Amino acid sequence: MNFGGSTLRDRLNLVRDRVIRACARSGRAADQVVLIGVTKTVPVEVVSEAVVLGLADLGENRVQEAEAKIAAVGRSHARWHLIGHLQRNKAGRAVTLFDRIHSVDDLELARAVSRRAVEARVTMPVLIEVNVSGEPSKFGVSPAETPALAEQVAALPALRFDGFMTVGAKVDVPDDARAGFARLRAVRDLAERRVGHPLPVLSMGMSGDFEVAIEEGSTMVRVGTALFGARPRAALERN
Ligand SMILES: *Cc1c(COP(=O)(O)O)cnc(C)c1O
Repeated sequence: MNFGGSTLRDRLNLVRDRVIRACARSGRAADQVVLIGVTKTVPVEVVSEAVVLGLADLGENRVQEAEAKIAAVGRSHARWHLIGHLQRNKAGRAVTLFDRIHSVDDLELARAVSRRAVEARVTMPVLIEVNVSGEPSKFGVSPAETPALAEQVAALPALRFDGFMTVGAKVDVPDDARAGFARLRAVRDLAERRVGHPLPVLSMGMSGDFEVAIEEGSTMVRVGTALFGARPRAALERN
């Protein structure tokens, strides 16, 4: 795939470089940040090409779309992350398809994922999605409700609850997203004390703001456009 005269390889190298430099600026080791390539709407041939180039973590936001891609690309060279809203009735499929679910945002959903993970005899790593910006269009639990939900999710069987995810506020200047990322880190620190074990994973940062997110402690950045180009402006943006 080729756009703006650059190849997928060029763009992957560039994004990796930017991740490494953001880590260096904030005194962190580069291996503390996982680059997740967000492949929603990206054709399966391009996804396969990315995997061959060494992109080992892929993010999809719909179970349905992911199912076909995972069948084609496989799971032996890539881990698959569910980063979009999950409906409770798809918890069973999500548990068998994905290696991590980033978007748990209420107790009933967490219970459904837990029950299905028990049935499938897997331990499912999960993050709680927090709406730090308070924008009504966003999924995620409010920061105020997060510690209580964290405590309840931590008690469920067959889940490995180990952190939080957020979608940064829509901003024109990346630095304006910084406060929201700092807020997620603070929410995490509070929740850690409530649940009594470390919650090391912070999934935050997208194409427009991943460097700022890394400076604020992100351990997983979810990058689509900067790797694969602009998506069609379709309903697939949301889910
Ligand atoms: C689409 C999407 C991304 C990637 O967004 P880009 O701006 O294209 O990098 C990241 N996270 C979530 C939850 C998404 O839905």
